[in-house]
Amino acid sequence: MNRILIMGPPGAGKGTQAVEIAAHFGIPAVSTGAIFRSNVEDGTALGDAARRYMDAGEYVPDEVTNAMLRDRLGRRDCAGGFLLDGYPRTLAQVAELDEILAGADACLDAVVSLRVDAEELIARLVRRAQIENRADDTEDVVRRRQQVYAEETAPLLAEYAARGLHVTVDGSGTVHKVSARVLEALGVRT
Ligand code: ADP
Repeated sequence: MNRILIMGPPGAGKGTQAVEIAAHFGIPAVSTGAIFRSNVEDGTALGDAARRYMDAGEYVPDEVTNAMLRDRLGRRDCAGGFLLDGYPRTLAQVAELDEILAGADACLDAVVSLRVDAEELIARLVRRAQIENRADDTEDVVRRRQQVYAEETAPLLAEYAARGLHVTVDGSGTVHKVSARVLEALGVRT
């Protein structure tokens, strides 16, 4: 297991689980949201290109996201594998990832999606807004992001299911419980 995707709606806990699972397999966790946020903070050209989309709860355009991801996966630490958190989110990104992997003679091992009750998601995001002060965590934006996920990203699960790669994991409960479920779904005995 060294090329893994973790998916799920905003607030499902992808970022937290990504770090746990990546550490277990000794691969880097690559989060497109985290890369965008650090570019916004540093005021880079990429950050400037991404910011207004993020603040509105919209996806950053595929050309921008795909170029960034291709560059990130081309770095040495990803040569032996990676866990992707927050990518792909559109069918065009699925195609880009397929091409990057084919170019490296590699393939995906698994696509994990976290399932969490809709009300619980909103509650978690509102709580996170109070703690982290993320510009994309205001209530309107939170709702918009759920909607964008349902429209643009949820259909990707069917695509990966058709490829026999998709496993769904219950994302409710403590961080530890969820990561134990993810590892079990990936065939690791805990
Ligand atoms: P969450 O997991 O809460 O949805 P992320 O940290 O993954 O948040 O992403 C934050 C924002 O960064 C997204 O709402 C979007 O604007 C942008 N973003 C992250 N990944 C992508 C992607 N693959 N394609 C387009 N935009 C993205």
